[in-house]
Amino acid sequence: MDTVALTFDDGPYPETTPALPAALGGTRATFFLWGEHAEAHPDLVRAIAAAGHAIGNHTWTHPRLTTLPATGRDREVRRTQDLLTRLTGIRPSLFRPPYGDTDASVAATLAAHELTEVLWSVDTRDWAGCSVGEIVAAAGDAQPGGVVLMHDGRPATVEAVPRILAALTARGLRSGPVRG
Ligand SMILES: [Zn+2]
Repeated sequence: MDTVALTFDDGPYPETTPALPAALGGTRATFFLWGEHAEAHPDLVRAIAAAGHAIGNHTWTHPRLTTLPATGRDREVRRTQDLLTRLTGIRPSLFRPPYGDTDASVAATLAAHELTEVLWSVDTRDWAGCSVGEIVAAAGDAQPGGVVLMHDGRPATVEAVPRILAALTARGLRSGPVRG
């Protein structure tokens, strides 16, 4: 069956992260974690991993990476890699640049860490305060093999997830891992 990758950025957040594995109903998603948040809530990082979801690197402080010197870019990526590896026992292989802000210099940093950059094919705009219905409708544009951008920390997104999964099922699709 064809899959669509549901991705959740910026967590973990104590207000919403615990509800997401249940909302995902046993399907697999990918969480791009913000290093500072992961350091503050290590138990939530372990819970995401224990629920079978993939964990990716989303930098330590969520900067615009193209504005940083090479040493700063490297520090953002390395510190987050080290923490997530320590917490889960798995070194992340996926990376999402904050704001989708990337260029050849970012690509060089990621190559040094053997990270694959993951952008998205559909932006649900949940970050802009969209309603549950708007998030569900946006995700409905995802095609097989597509990647849906969502954000942890937003109750409307948690509420949208079961409806997004139902809509995928109705189209003969399911939520699955990001394709390398
Ligand atoms: Zn982000």
